Amino acid sequence: KQPPSRKGSMTDVPKNLLQTIKDFEGQFTVDTKKLKEIVDHFVKELEKGLSVEGGNIPMNVTWVMGFPNGDEQGTFLALDMGGTNLRVCEISLTEEQGGFDITQSKYRIPEELKTGTAEELWEYIADCLQQFIEYHHGEENLAKLPLGFTFSYPATQEYIDHGVLQRWTKGFDIEGVEGEDVVPPLENILKQRGLPIKIAALINDTTGTLIASAYTDPLMRIGCIFGTGVNAAYMENVGSVPKIAHMNLPPDMPIAINCEYGAFDNEHVVLPLTKYDHIIDRDSPRPGQQAFEKMTAGLYLGEIFRLALVDLLDNRPGLIFEKQDTSKLRKPYLLDSSFPAAIEQDPYENLQDTEELFERVLNIKPTPAELELIRRLAELIGTRAARLSACGVAAICKKKNITSCHVGADGSVFTKYPHFKARGAQALREILDWAPNEKDKVTIQAAEDGSGVGAALIAALTLNRVKAGNL
Ligand code: BGC
Ligand code: MG
Repeated sequence: KQPPSRKGSMTDVPKNLLQTIKDFEGQFTVDTKKLKEIVDHFVKELEKGLSVEGGNIPMNVTWVMGFPNGDEQGTFLALDMGGTNLRVCEISLTEEQGGFDITQSKYRIPEELKTGTAEELWEYIADCLQQFIEYHHGEENLAKLPLGFTFSYPATQEYIDHGVLQRWTKGFDIEGVEGEDVVPPLENILKQRGLPIKIAALINDTTGTLIASAYTDPLMRIGCIFGTGVNAAYMENVGSVPKIAHMNLPPDMPIAINCEYGAFDNEHVVLPLTKYDHIIDRDSPRPGQQAFEKMTAGLYLGEIFRLALVDLLDNRPGLIFEKQDTSKLRKPYLLDSSFPAAIEQDPYENLQDTEELFERVLNIKPTPAELELIRRLAELIGTRAARLSACGVAAICKKKNITSCHVGADGSVFTKYPHFKARGAQALREILDWAPNEKDKVTIQAAEDGSGVGAALIAALTLNRVKAGNL
């Protein structure tokens, strides 16, 4: 559902504020030509990531070999470690084609944990798993329950049940995990606690999304996350992945690639960065990394918005919020993406919801003209994020010569940010040159639960493969 539209009017906005709005429009607008330029570079970077030399985009081999056929069965645990929440699920893949039952508990990842120690992280995860199991199973025997671990960070995998963390993303900064296999520490702590769980597969959320969506829709080709972080996975042929040529696998064998395209254009060749994007990068725990993600993901949209307003306070004295206490607005990351989202959702001509939001959260009372500026800024940031997001999807389609398909998408920005879907679809039309009367050929639609059901399916596919003696 899209929010109701608001006409809005700039007639009462004084000249200097109008000029500021124009400046923002200039900085944040990505026109069709630029979109195409980004996509062309993106396609090359995807290719590079598959090569032996490699590139910025990791293009991680996942060892998920093909799609489910809908007949998968069994009961599995899934652990979903995202950027914001930790979720534990028990999933039963039922006899009915594409059917499943799910029981789950969600836990917010405490902010301190993201920059704490590795021990604290694994202990916390084990606590959540243990609590879930004790609550849902009591004395029952768990000996047979395989776990699909959705670890939504870039990992190098030589086997499906191992993964070496390449680098933290999404603001995580826990020492001693990068460069290490993340499976043994989790397995060890589960063993110490007497939890008889076997990690059957380590999964990225995008791969899970791809597989879960393909379980019920044969037209699915790409799984995407537009959430705290951004990324996509798609199915490649082994023969198109030079970096695994030495393994002598059948060239036509399908293999899912977790692109990790949040790292696209880390060297800033083509992305239209504003000074706010540069500040975000500079002040992040990993400068120089995840350039594409930092312009499009939910973790950053509120911060971009905040930085733009702080810029006006610092460099255009007296322009906005005169005689107001702006100390709260100066707190980094105070505003998450729900803040610009709520502004864009405000249906009132006088923007009364936005006014109330500013007073409540920031202790600032904007003038009517300032409210217009605020609304326009939120629209510009949300629109840029959606249009750039479409570039990743378009690049995969172009690389694979896909002219029509379904794309399964999940994540808070996709499901909750106003107009994100429509703006993304519009950008795809422009990039892929569909005629005005042509229906959308590549459609991005809400995915099945990839980190739960997808993880269970991948665990099932893996166990079936082991049973069959393949790989
Ligand atoms: C991570 C990816 C993940 C994406 C969406 C990125 O920051 O590196 O592994 O798929 O966020 O959660
Ligand atoms: Mg998630």
